[in-house]
Amino acid sequence: MKIAFLGLGNMGFHMARNLAAAGYDVTGYDVVEKATQAVAEHGVTPAETARAAVDGADVVITMFPAGKHVLEAYQNDLLDAAKPDTLFIDSSTIAVDDAVKAAAMAREAGHRALDAPVSGGTKGAEQGTLTFMVGGEQEDFDQASPLFDVMGRKIVHTGDSGTGQAAKIVNNMALAITTIAAAEAFSLGENLGLSHQTLYDVMSTSAAQSWAVTTNCPVPGPVPEAPASNDYRPGFATALMAKDLSLAKAAIESTDTPADFGLAAYRAYTDFNTEDNQGKDFSAIIATKKKG
Ligand code: NAD
Repeated sequence: MKIAFLGLGNMGFHMARNLAAAGYDVTGYDVVEKATQAVAEHGVTPAETARAAVDGADVVITMFPAGKHVLEAYQNDLLDAAKPDTLFIDSSTIAVDDAVKAAAMAREAGHRALDAPVSGGTKGAEQGTLTFMVGGEQEDFDQASPLFDVMGRKIVHTGDSGTGQAAKIVNNMALAITTIAAAEAFSLGENLGLSHQTLYDVMSTSAAQSWAVTTNCPVPGPVPEAPASNDYRPGFATALMAKDLSLAKAAIESTDTPADFGLAAYRAYTDFNTEDNQGKDFSAIIATKKKG
């Protein structure tokens, strides 16, 4: 199976490298030449243009920053340059509507399409332990599964086109809300005289238990591996959480869903996403919960 991999940034670099290491014939392209060259040192054949990358490929995987990059690349180069019936897999996190549009464009051009966003961050990409949420036809999912198994550990077929993106943003909306809940609980507990460790011991084993408490605890100390114990770095960047919440907001509005806490989380992370904070793990939002 010949694979074209486009978008070799923080995530794509590792994903393309892992596919090549597993023995696949991978051609890589990024608009930033340095990124294309970096992956060439890891068994990926560098291409000079997007069109050259997809020439003769059976599968085209994209890992771009946003929906507009996916739609533009599909429209301008990729769909036209690919051979008929190529399987297009977009693993970028983009709006549900954009994912549906991208898949429709691919099918109209005589190809097949899956939206396959991921969670697990750069560590998951590096270690091949990502979670894939995949929207599209069963047959296409089955064909792509061996590739997902190389790049990830948990692979879920979520339904039709767009449902992969839907699962991703719904999950991250809930994650943002539970993280804000944990941050408010630790701040209120502190103001009431509870030590972080005491509150952790209670909450991590009680009904308020959540990943935001047990794994990504927002205060330094109780979980030594949590970003909070290392000045909130590295982790899941605030900028990416703010981006995902803007996609959740668009979906809340387009479906007319009463999701006040999701919208509140969107506003909180949009405000918190300053130059100083954008690179910090999103649990750093606890800084906004301090008195005074
Ligand atoms: P990134 O900005 O590091 O990488 C994106 C790459 O795409 C860049 O190198 C850019 O030059 C390239 N690119 C843009 N347009 C292109 C085009 N037309 N042709 C070729 N290359 C092009 O971003 P990232 O952190 O790797 O994230 C990629 C996607 O994965 C985003 O949609 C992000 O939301 C999602 N995501 C990221 C993480 C994470 O922890 N970084 C986790 C889950 C999901």
